[in-house]
Amino acid sequence: MDHQIVGAELVPRAEGKRRFRRQILADWGHSCYLCGGSPEHLTLDHLVPRRAGGETCRSNLAPACAPCNRRKGCSELWSHWTRSEHWNQGRALRLIRWLLAAATVAEDTAAGPGGEPTRDPGAAGSADPLSDV
Ligand SMILES: [Zn+2]
Repeated sequence: MDHQIVGAELVPRAEGKRRFRRQILADWGHSCYLCGGSPEHLTLDHLVPRRAGGETCRSNLAPACAPCNRRKGCSELWSHWTRSEHWNQGRALRLIRWLLAAATVAEDTAAGPGGEPTRDPGAAGSADPLSDV
């Protein structure tokens, strides 16, 4: 399930994580990057799943509605998306621009908006508020 934000309330940098999350949602206009829907609750999808080595950083996260996030699961993004009914080239281009912009920001500043929100050394395996399904 996608209850990413719950665990964040318990950690000291919770506010930073909330801002980090809110900023990503705002940058996407609060819409799902896969289907374009704007449900009340959006999850943050790891473009490259964590278990495939994907990091919890701006360049690897995008808002997804819960059904899309669930459907994608741990699938490889592009092969999943291009075969799905929600494939849309306009949104794909938007995602590519997002990746380029996020990569540029990552190079310019060591810490993204809200600092380094989720990389706690030695915390592997602990509850990650932004984790995938
Ligand atoms: Zn969706």
